[in-house]
Amino acid sequence: MSRFWSDAIKRLTPYVPGEQPKEAGITKLNTNENPYPPSPLAAAVIRDFDTDRLRLYSDPDCTALKEAIADHFAVERKHVFVGNGSDEVLAHTFAAFFQQDAPLLMPEFTYSFYPVYCTLYDIAYKQIPLRDEFVLNLEDYNQPNGGIIFANPNAPTSRAIELGEIEALIKRNPDSVIVIDEAYVDFGANSAVALTQRYDNVLVVQTFSKSRSLAGMRVGFAIGHEDLIAGLERVKNSFNSYPLDMLAIASATAAIKDQAYFEESTQKIIETREWTMERLAELGFISLPSKTNFLFARHRLLEAAELMGYLRTKKILVRYFSKPGIDNYLRISIGTQEEMQRLIDTLEQHPDLFKLPLNQND
Ligand SMILES: *Cc1c(COP(=O)(O)O)cnc(C)c1O
Repeated sequence: MSRFWSDAIKRLTPYVPGEQPKEAGITKLNTNENPYPPSPLAAAVIRDFDTDRLRLYSDPDCTALKEAIADHFAVERKHVFVGNGSDEVLAHTFAAFFQQDAPLLMPEFTYSFYPVYCTLYDIAYKQIPLRDEFVLNLEDYNQPNGGIIFANPNAPTSRAIELGEIEALIKRNPDSVIVIDEAYVDFGANSAVALTQRYDNVLVVQTFSKSRSLAGMRVGFAIGHEDLIAGLERVKNSFNSYPLDMLAIASATAAIKDQAYFEESTQKIIETREWTMERLAELGFISLPSKTNFLFARHRLLEAAELMGYLRTKKILVRYFSKPGIDNYLRISIGTQEEMQRLIDTLEQHPDLFKLPLNQND
């Protein structure tokens, strides 16, 4: 605390990202990064980049990238907004749409950045409990609201919901903006992008960080009605004219055009996820059904915090949230097949595991 901080800054509770370890030899399963490299087309663009161009500012409108995204989703360019990671796109979304008389609704357990933006932008919000086994039921959102946001699939719970339920929610709330954060949608869920073409109150946010292996480039985007996009542009142009650098624009543009590589790498991750879920079950873990590149799992008998610490001593990082309600779960990112084999082998060597009657029911 400093006497120079404004009152608004004193009230903030910043988001805490997962650890990015400096030491070598760590198996990193804690921040849902993609274990495979970006598309070779993106790598080639970076390798061949003419660095003389860096004298100039990047394209403030990111036209080439917006066009590539629009082509990919078969929408018009005016329906596409891009930003410096989807975190920035989300931040602008909160600033543009959610300062209303009624509170913003969000799930009790979801991406923990949402409440942080609410505090930053002074937005009232209400957290809606999930049902048993962390099921998100949109019927629970039938109440006065100044907007609704959730992730689909949800994080850290990994569950996805059906588009029919989302469309019904959009219809029930024609005067609210509904934001669907699809950071993980490419790992087995259905995207709501088509709904953005039929309703003027829905915004879909996606990222290049997870399914396209470009977390380090910081590229995210939103698709929605042109008036929603124009609102986001107003915020963006009141904040930073050049949020994406030239390398980010060029590499993301190349990456989204490489459909074959995208399908191959996401499919590998899905297969490794299902394999890992079965192996974990044999070791006494219960994982929620996942449509993401991570598993949200608890052990029948061992405590999550202890397991996280044990794995840390074996140089394997997983994510643990000490928040009541989810504090006996681990969020385990899906790495390569070899990394997940290492996780399973390490868990098998846990000193308490062999004592446990694992074939009993809960
Ligand atoms: C990773 C993630 C993001 C942020 O992605 P960036 O594009 O890297 O900023 C947003 N929402 C959810 C739910 C995420 O898991």
